[in-house]
Amino acid sequence: MDEKKLRAVIKTCMALTILILAYFVPRIAFREQLGSETNQAPAAETGSSETALTETEQVEPKIKGQRGLIILDPGHGGMDPGMIGVGGIEEKLINLQVSLVLAEKLEEQGFETMLTRTEDRGLYDPETVNKKAQDMQRRCALIEENDPLLTVSIHQNSYSDPAVYGPQVFYFEHSAEGKELATCIQEQLNTQLGITKPREIKGNTNYYILKRSASVTVLVECAFLSNPEEAAKIQTEEYQNAVATAICDGIVCWVGLSQ
Ligand SMILES: [Zn+2]
Repeated sequence: MDEKKLRAVIKTCMALTILILAYFVPRIAFREQLGSETNQAPAAETGSSETALTETEQVEPKIKGQRGLIILDPGHGGMDPGMIGVGGIEEKLINLQVSLVLAEKLEEQGFETMLTRTEDRGLYDPETVNKKAQDMQRRCALIEENDPLLTVSIHQNSYSDPAVYGPQVFYFEHSAEGKELATCIQEQLNTQLGITKPREIKGNTNYYILKRSASVTVLVECAFLSNPEEAAKIQTEEYQNAVATAICDGIVCWVGLSQ
């Protein structure tokens, strides 16, 4: 082999080596980088879940009642049945059942709860002439005496057109806080119950409990007892539970915003 040929062979070998290195080195480096990222991923996940746990621990109250008092007001009772729905169902009974479930849910979230009634009776004396007026005055007096964080009055709706359905939250028209609370609860009800034609919150100046209550108060009309489907659903434990969960989540959301 002469010198020219030897140089050509050496040049070719060097060019090949450079080509081979140029092809493999970046891939090896990239793989190492990938490997290190893959290794880091679980660590990062662990890190974030640890953070989430810590946050939950901080938010989750340890002491029962630590977050304050909430008054639940199951509408009607006793001689006042409220709306009479499909199949003769009385509003007062559903109001109490939903309120009792809601009280449990709120207590799980660290609130203290008080109900204006815990059985089928109104807050009136049997001998009183205007029982409805005394009943409403006493509910408001209870709210004033106990100075709660907020009050939720639980009711069921009814309408001449049986097709109308869906929960709706009312607030005192001149209360900005009441409007915010109503918004939070309405949003949770519409989303969690999968309401296809969602209703909107409504300001009101006539409802006694909204007008005369000393605390931030909303009135939740959970279901239309005049709508056969909704009337059947609201009598089930499962749906009452879903309604109570949505109201509770709305309250938790509002309390978080107002703090
Ligand atoms: Zn009612």
